[in-house]
Amino acid sequence: MRILITGGAGFIGSHLAEALLDGGHTVYALDDLSTGSIDNITHLKSHPNFHYTIDTVFNDPLVAEMVDRADVVFHLAAAVGVKLIVERPVHTIETNVHGTEVVLRHAAKKKKLVFIASTSEVYGKSAKVPFNEDADLVMGATTRHRWAYACSKALDEFLALAYWKESRQPVIVMRFFNTVGPRQTGQYGMVVPTFVRQALANEPITVFGDGTQSRSFTYVGDVVGALVKLMVTPSAIGQVYNVGNTEEVSIRGLAERIKARTGSSSEIVTIPYEQAYEAGFEDMPRRVPDLGKIHQAIGYTPKVKLDEIIDRVVEEKRAYAGAGRAVT
Ligand code: UDP
Repeated sequence: MRILITGGAGFIGSHLAEALLDGGHTVYALDDLSTGSIDNITHLKSHPNFHYTIDTVFNDPLVAEMVDRADVVFHLAAAVGVKLIVERPVHTIETNVHGTEVVLRHAAKKKKLVFIASTSEVYGKSAKVPFNEDADLVMGATTRHRWAYACSKALDEFLALAYWKESRQPVIVMRFFNTVGPRQTGQYGMVVPTFVRQALANEPITVFGDGTQSRSFTYVGDVVGALVKLMVTPSAIGQVYNVGNTEEVSIRGLAERIKARTGSSSEIVTIPYEQAYEAGFEDMPRRVPDLGKIHQAIGYTPKVKLDEIIDRVVEEKRAYAGAGRAVT
């Protein structure tokens, strides 16, 4: 198949491109390199079935043409990362909402299957762990900029499902739970690459809040495997799926594990949220997916455990440092 990946030079997008090329598909990547990086796709540039365009999803005529050429669209282009979202809420809302509008509008003309990348962030402050796809979403106040991300992604979901309802435009909504792995940068706030960079430099490892908040980190390869399978699962159309891992770790526990696995002499320090982000910042205490639905659809179970994920990220960042490149 011919597959368009918006955000194809991003962290998840570039891994997805690789998997699709391995499966014999032709990939067209569209990326404006805002948070993605050309480094992520350098190794793919010489592949005969890989094509890339540096431009934005706001370029209407271009998106029209690229969607037209594709059989399936993975819409991954988005503003991501809590730090970026808190610092640039206007950019976040406009990118996430308008980008999805453009992609869906063009896809609907010829009913091209579109995957919408959503996030576990949409569950917000819900305490009903593990999070089930049909559960209520619990957002904070609009004065807390963090929630702009969850709301922008929830609106993307609503729009996709509305297209499916009104015009049978095929869509599949994916809620990603803290996807991590090589090529992810800590520049926009993500915790695993940040802690690994700090540990390798023997700098303080910065735990925000008291560190009791927990996450369940998912290896990017597990996520990509699920996307590739769902692409050929007709019953998935019109559905929302969690994709993640159920192995939970506190952020302090994560810092300790990364310190131990790197043999680092870093000190683990705690930083209040208002200093790390902004006054009144609200975090989520726990975030664990209910994976029953995606397991039933495609037999999904996450394969890569947290220690293995950490080791793979450490290996990549060490190689970067060894080659004299900046570790981010
Ligand atoms: N975090 C941290 N130190 C950092 C970056 C993040 O303690 O340098 C915390 C953050 O406050 C959150 C968790 O790690 O509780 C996961 O953060 P991330 O931004 O990776 O993802 P989130 O789950 O918040 O979307």
